[in-house]
Amino acid sequence: MTTRPFGTFFLPGPTEVRAEILAAMLQPMMSHRSPEFEALYARCDEGMRRLFRTTRPVFISSSSATGLMEGAVRNAPAGRILSLVNGAFSARFAEIARACGRTVDVLQVPYGEIVPLERVEEALRAQRFAAVTAAHSETSTGAAQDVQAIAAMAHANGAYSLIDSVSGLGGIPVETDAWALDFVLTGSQKALALPPGLAFCCVSDRYLASAGDAPARGKYFDIVEFAAYAAKRQTPNTPAVSLFYALDAQMAAIGPTGTECRWARHAAMAAVTHAWVETQRKDGRLDGILAPCGARSNTVTVVKTRAGTDARTVVDAVQARGLTLGGGYGSMAGTTFRVGHMGDHTVETVSGLLAVVEEVLAHG
Ligand SMILES: *Cc1c(COP(=O)(O)O)cnc(C)c1O
Repeated sequence: MTTRPFGTFFLPGPTEVRAEILAAMLQPMMSHRSPEFEALYARCDEGMRRLFRTTRPVFISSSSATGLMEGAVRNAPAGRILSLVNGAFSARFAEIARACGRTVDVLQVPYGEIVPLERVEEALRAQRFAAVTAAHSETSTGAAQDVQAIAAMAHANGAYSLIDSVSGLGGIPVETDAWALDFVLTGSQKALALPPGLAFCCVSDRYLASAGDAPARGKYFDIVEFAAYAAKRQTPNTPAVSLFYALDAQMAAIGPTGTECRWARHAAMAAVTHAWVETQRKDGRLDGILAPCGARSNTVTVVKTRAGTDARTVVDAVQARGLTLGGGYGSMAGTTFRVGHMGDHTVETVSGLLAVVEEVLAHG
């Protein structure tokens, strides 16, 4: 079995998982219709409610996060969808809505930017929409959007807010109840620092009430079923039991007061990373950060290399020194690399990484 010291793996998903969490997955199987499982489920739900900042149940899906993006659309009332697109994942949300047979209006800005709120308001006023989709933290670009404001605008115009906080929740503030988010989802393998394979969502009462009438909500991501089973502390189908063990261990480690600590730690990791990029930019070694100041996620930074430096060679040289960075997403692979400063990383582990990247930039 391969093992690796913690503090070497900085992909923006899947993120590095602590040995203690991996070890928790070695526990024997149990029936998912047993009191034992119900107790485990209850602990996981309780922990996730604290991270989602909600008093309502958090539904736990044995799927990747994309499954719940599809679930968000499928369970929404009939009608047009407005998709805010500012990167690869928010574009995927629009594609999913189309694939589910919806008419989709896309509000697009260049990748790296955030969608101006005035444009969202304008679009919502011009036409009636059933729902708005948006990425909270766009992992492909490192931009973070004001989903509180977007959700409020959607509400005011009679539309539901469907929020992808896959690389946000657990790292940057999400206030499901206070912001009245109708459907907010995340995955296990980003800021929660768990292995991939679980997805989580929380829905508003009104979203749940209308889900029963959704035209083609399908079966695997039927939110009405999730709610019925969650009330019994179970899942509709066989859950990924081993991943629940990992989740249980992580919820115990985060504890009742861990949510704000995570937000603060992620803000500190982002600050260290941003300051470092700025120094490198002044020294002529990097071109800067893709997302504009004031619109950056605290979980991932997308760094632009200087013209003439293929970002892939930086990622490879860092890898040769034993550390893993994220490559630039899609067409940005040659011009950017991504630093996933999220999950269970710390200012210390991130600083260790940045020192190595600096050495690579200085000496190749
Ligand atoms: C990773 C990611 C997804 C997709 O998650 P999967 O678990 O791979 O389905 C969606 N949105 C964002 C913002 C992501 O970072």
